[in-house]
Amino acid sequence: MTKIVKVGNVEIGGGQISVQSMTNTKTKDVDATVAQIAKLQEAGCDIVRVSVPDKESALACRQIVEQTSIPVVADIHFDYRLAIASADSGVSKIRINPGNIGDISKVKYLASYLKERNIPIRIGVNGGSLDAKYRDMPLAKAMCESALEHVRILEECNFDDIVISAKSSNVAAMIQAYRLIRSECDYPLHIGVTEAGTYTKGLIKSSIGIGSLLCDGIGDTIRVSLTDDPVKEVEAGIEILKACDKYSKPYAEVIACPTCARTNINVQEIASKVEELCKNVRKNVKIAVMGCVVNGIGESKGCDFGVAGGVGKSALFAKGELIESVDNDQILPRLAKMIEEFE
Ligand code: SF4
Repeated sequence: MTKIVKVGNVEIGGGQISVQSMTNTKTKDVDATVAQIAKLQEAGCDIVRVSVPDKESALACRQIVEQTSIPVVADIHFDYRLAIASADSGVSKIRINPGNIGDISKVKYLASYLKERNIPIRIGVNGGSLDAKYRDMPLAKAMCESALEHVRILEECNFDDIVISAKSSNVAAMIQAYRLIRSECDYPLHIGVTEAGTYTKGLIKSSIGIGSLLCDGIGDTIRVSLTDDPVKEVEAGIEILKACDKYSKPYAEVIACPTCARTNINVQEIASKVEELCKNVRKNVKIAVMGCVVNGIGESKGCDFGVAGGVGKSALFAKGELIESVDNDQILPRLAKMIEEFE
């Protein structure tokens, strides 16, 4: 059983996998940061992280927290005083590596300060910035050892409200690192591929890395890292959860055939329009858009309903059975009605 860590009103480790993202505004620009967080929340973000590189940013967190209704995490490197200032500003979690703080008395002071306020710490190991002593080890083992070393430091300070991440841009190493960590301790894991890159490449690397672990039952909260608008990170994170059967909210899923020489209708256009129709649907429904009647109906038996394209007229079907034949220009309005009426 994974330990449960509470980050504001969100539980990490309780079974529901939360989606995180990070703002890329200047944190001290409160208005821009709050506006971006609102967009992330609208897209489905559960927890948001902001960088805190200086005192001004730590102080700005107070106004950001006041104007935001999802938990805010302060991302801090090295300086424990920024962690204290961020805690005073009301953030719900601190990301800092205790081994990088320096003097153990400072770590102890921070640990007890956060413990009194029920503020957890995420230990965030990054494969690209490991301590020199780990450089001769295989990367996955090195990340695991480094994470466990930070854990031991906090445990020695009597602090166990811990979430761990061990990210790398090397997907295979990142997967292995998380597996090793999972076998060594029961702290909840924040999983992600770091510096994954621009949209398409980043999406593929994140899907493989995060998806492989989720399908093994590893991972309690996720962040997709993209060199792009952070809203896309949230959308991608939700799609990964759906693809791995880990998404806990009701939603509409659209499947579509890849098309071939048998295709009779514009599957790509219809499927895109149905996806658009389904964006705000909050019920579990699975719809198929298939290009031909020959294979379409049989291949999508697992769907609640759908269309299989024909010449001039197409077949609407439910649970693999033909229910109606409609003119091709009526496919979309009929599917829209079926989605609306589905219970
Ligand atoms: S459902 Fe029909 S049109 Fe679509 S890929 Fe299969 S055979 Fe081709």
